[in-house]
Amino acid sequence: KCHNELVRLKGNIRVFGRVRPITTEDGEGPEAANSVTFDPDDDAILHLMHKGKQVSFELDKVFSPQATQQDVFQEVQALITSCIDGYNVCIFAYGQTGAGKTYTMEGTPENPGINQRALQLLFSEVQRKASDWGYTITVSVAEIYNEALRDLLGKEPQEKLDIKLCPDGSGQLYVPGLTEFQVQSVEDINKVFEFGHSNRVTEYTSLNEHSSRSHALLIVTVRGLDYSTGLRTTGKLNLVDLAGSERVGRSGAEGSRLREAQYINKSLSALGDVIYALRARQGHVPFRNSKLTYLLQDSLSGDSKTLMMVQVSPVEKNTSETLCSLKFAERVR
Ligand code: ADP
Ligand code: MG
Repeated sequence: KCHNELVRLKGNIRVFGRVRPITTEDGEGPEAANSVTFDPDDDAILHLMHKGKQVSFELDKVFSPQATQQDVFQEVQALITSCIDGYNVCIFAYGQTGAGKTYTMEGTPENPGINQRALQLLFSEVQRKASDWGYTITVSVAEIYNEALRDLLGKEPQEKLDIKLCPDGSGQLYVPGLTEFQVQSVEDINKVFEFGHSNRVTEYTSLNEHSSRSHALLIVTVRGLDYSTGLRTTGKLNLVDLAGSERVGRSGAEGSRLREAQYINKSLSALGDVIYALRARQGHVPFRNSKLTYLLQDSLSGDSKTLMMVQVSPVEKNTSETLCSLKFAERVR
């Protein structure tokens, strides 16, 4: 029993790191020099050169810039398929803007990330079990901006949604009015993603700028029915591209920028606190301190499974933010 307990503790929350390659956008010269190295014998260790000193971190696994989207997916597959068996799963991409969060979750058309690969895998697994089980897969696309939750597949994407307790007394939460689209193919999901994207509210000139300041959520629900026994299961996969974790200079930001920064800071700290409390098995888990943790509490607690993917920029000019991200990673691990 003790052993099982240990496995559970270790198994429920995992923290990976992913270091993106240096690109031409990083510029040239000392600012763009590489500052991250790896341990050839241990893929959980990463070294950061910060202000002339080497700082080492141990996570559950670290992906180097050479790791492909498929390499990363390989390591998260089991987590994803567990939602077919009724488990709730959360995968978060954390890190400063430009560190590769969206690349890991969405990817590019040539190199799709976890979101598309996850749905594709779910489609094929569900197909494989189709003689005994009937499944429906639905997706919701939402964002949290300035602590307001919005339905990006809804008719009124600007409207703020409430999170409520289910009236059935189960203690479960739900979001009245959050749109769910049933999906059966990659074409379906591409359409859904496109539609969701076009609805991201923005006062910014670029979508990129806005997306770095809001949390983007893809919520996949897998409902199963065992034909022979009538048993029903529901599993949820929450794929979250978090707002950029960079600290906004106190002097520089004012007005709405400052407010945004405060909201982001608050919700990322709240997420860290919740994962820390779950991992440390603290009696009180402060889910209510942010919209994100409140919304996801059913997918973070109990026998749910969580993966925090901490994204890292390898270049010299980002080492202060990288240090913060890796400290966050170590705290929740
Ligand atoms: P974020 O979402 O954290 O702001 P992005 O995912 O937009 O960062 O990544 C910044 C840039 O780096 C993008 O041009 C992206 O395509 C590129 N990039 C990030 N990670 C990788 C990677 N592992 N391999 C290749 N290019 C990457
Ligand atoms: Mg992004």
